[in-house]
Amino acid sequence: MCARKPCSAREEDARRSTACSSCITALAGIAPTEYGKKNAGSPASRCRIPKPGNHVPLLNPEYGRAACFMRNVAPSQKFDVAVVGGGPSGLSCAYTLAKKGLRVAVMERGRTPGAKNLFGGRVYSSPLEKVFPNFRKEAPIERWVKHEKMSVVADDGALSLDYDSKGSTSFTAYLPKLVTWMATKAEAEGAVMVSDVCVDGLAMDGHRVVGVTAGGDKIDADVVVLAEGVNRLLCEGMKVVPPLSAHQVALGVRQVVRLGSDKINERFCLAADEGLAWFFLGKPSDYMPGGGFLYTNSSTVSIGLVLYLEKGIQMSEKNVYDILERFRTSPPLGQLLAGGSLVEYGSHLIPEAGLKMMPDKLYGDGYVIVGDAAGLVLNLGYTVRGVDFAVHSGFLAAQAISDARSSNSFGASSLAAYEEKLNRSFVVKEMRRHGAIQKMMQKRQVFEAYPRIMVDAARRLYEFDEVSPKLLEAGRRSMKGRRSTIGVLGDLLALARGP
Ligand SMILES: Cc1cc2nc3c(=O)[nH]c(=O)nc-3n(C[C@H](O)[C@H](O)[C@H](O)COP(=O)(O)OP(=O)(O)OC[C@H]3O[C@@H](n4cnc5c(N)ncnc54)[C@H](O)[C@@H]3O)c2cc1C
Repeated sequence: MCARKPCSAREEDARRSTACSSCITALAGIAPTEYGKKNAGSPASRCRIPKPGNHVPLLNPEYGRAACFMRNVAPSQKFDVAVVGGGPSGLSCAYTLAKKGLRVAVMERGRTPGAKNLFGGRVYSSPLEKVFPNFRKEAPIERWVKHEKMSVVADDGALSLDYDSKGSTSFTAYLPKLVTWMATKAEAEGAVMVSDVCVDGLAMDGHRVVGVTAGGDKIDADVVVLAEGVNRLLCEGMKVVPPLSAHQVALGVRQVVRLGSDKINERFCLAADEGLAWFFLGKPSDYMPGGGFLYTNSSTVSIGLVLYLEKGIQMSEKNVYDILERFRTSPPLGQLLAGGSLVEYGSHLIPEAGLKMMPDKLYGDGYVIVGDAAGLVLNLGYTVRGVDFAVHSGFLAAQAISDARSSNSFGASSLAAYEEKLNRSFVVKEMRRHGAIQKMMQKRQVFEAYPRIMVDAARRLYEFDEVSPKLLEAGRRSMKGRRSTIGVLGDLLALARGP
C-alpha cells in the first residue's frame, strides 16, 4: 500500500503533491535550470505544501508563477467572490453567482479546468438540473444508468443481484469533461477562470478573509469559497480542520478501458445509450474494507477500486495497482474487457468519515467551505454520492453569498445562512440517515467474512448431488468458523440502530 508515512508517525516525511515543479516544466518543454537540477530527486521532493507564514512561491519557479496567474487577472483586482478550486462544487457556486451578476474569479491549479478531477463514473442528476436549466440537452452525458448490479465475490464464486429500471435518475460521465462543460457555462455568465494557479494562502484582515494569495500575488474578494477538494490544505492552514488523517479517507484508483460502444452493448447486454453501474464486494478489494466499481460510458468502461486507507495499510503489503490489475483481469471482468485498450489510469483520495470530518463551522468572516473540502461524500457500498452533493453545496453557498451581498455584510453571521441551508438540505440529511452504514463500511468482517459466507451458502444451495440443503441450514453451515450468530445479529442491530 502507498501512503504509509502518515500512519507510521512519519507525517513530516510525507509531502503532498500540490505544485510539483517538474511536471509543468516538462510539459512546457523548458530545460531545467540550476533549481531544477538541484531538485531532480524523487517527484515528492520536488513538491511543497504551504506552511502557515511561509511565503515561498508554490508555483513552478522555472515556468514562472506570474505568467500563469496574471493571464486573466490584473494584480490586486477586486472580485465579489474568489473561488479556490474549479471542481464541481466551486463551479456550481461560480456559475450561480455569475448568473446573478456578481464578479467571480475561479482559481484552479490544473492546467485547464477538469485536468485534476477524477471520479468513478456516475452522477445523480437532480442537483445539476436545478443549477443548469438545459443540463439534459447540453451536458456531456455518457449514458443514463438503466442497469444496476451488485456482486459479492469470493475465491470460489460470486453472487450477484441485478436491477433493471425503466427510468433513470443518474448518468455516467467523465468528470474532466463534465467539469470543463461547467467551467464553460460559468465563463459564459462572466466568471473569470484562472487556471494553472495554486492558491497558497488566504489574504487576511485581522480574522476576516479578504482574498487569496498565490506566490506573492493577491486577489481581493469580499468572500472566498474554499472548494479545494479533499486535500484541504487551505482549511488546514486556517486551523478550521485538523490535518487529514488516514482513517478519514479512502484511496480511489481508476482505469478507463476503451472497448467501443458495440462491444460494450453486446457484452454487458445493454441497449444503445443504456448505462450500467456495477459494484463489487469481497475479493476485488482483496477482502479489505472498500470495493470495486464498473461504469459503462459511451465507448469506454471505467473500472476501479475504493480502499479505506487506514485499514488497507494495516491489512496489506500489496501494491494497490496490482490489486486493481488482478480485478481487471480475473473473472468476470477478464472476459468482459478482453481486447480493450487501457486509455487512462489515475488515483485520488475520497472523504469517507462522513459528518465526522466536516469542519465544526462551514463559514467564517469572509469565507465558506463546500464540497469534498467540507467532507460531503456518501459511500453506501452500492452507490457513491459526491458530485451531486458538491454541486448542491456550491449552489447553496452561492445563494447565501448573494443574500449577504444584498445586505453588504460578509461576516460570519451573514454567511451562517449557508450552513443552515445545507443542514436543511438533502445533503446533510442523507449523510445523517446513512451514518450507520458508513460506520459499517469500516468493519473488516463486512468485507472479509460476509462475502465468503454468502458465496459459500450459494454454493451449498446450488451445487449438490442428491440432497439439497434448506436455506437456513446452508447459511448456518457457511457461517461456521467465519462469524457467530451473535456477531451477525450484532451487526444487523448496529445497522438498524443508526450512528
Ligand atoms: C475514485 C473515485 C470515485 C468516485 N466516484 C464517484 C461517483 O461515482 N459518483 C460521485 O458522485 N462521486 C464520486 N466520487 C467523489 C467525487 O469525485 C467528489 O465528491 C467530487 O469531485 C467533489 O467535488 P469538489 O469540487 O468538492 O472537489 P474536487 O472535484 O476534488 O475539485 C477540487 C478542485 O480544486 C482544485 N484545487 C485544490 N487546491 C487548490 C488550490 N490551492 N488552488 C487552486 N486549485 C486548487 C483541484 O485541482 C480540483 O480541481 C469519487 C471520487 C473518487 C476519488
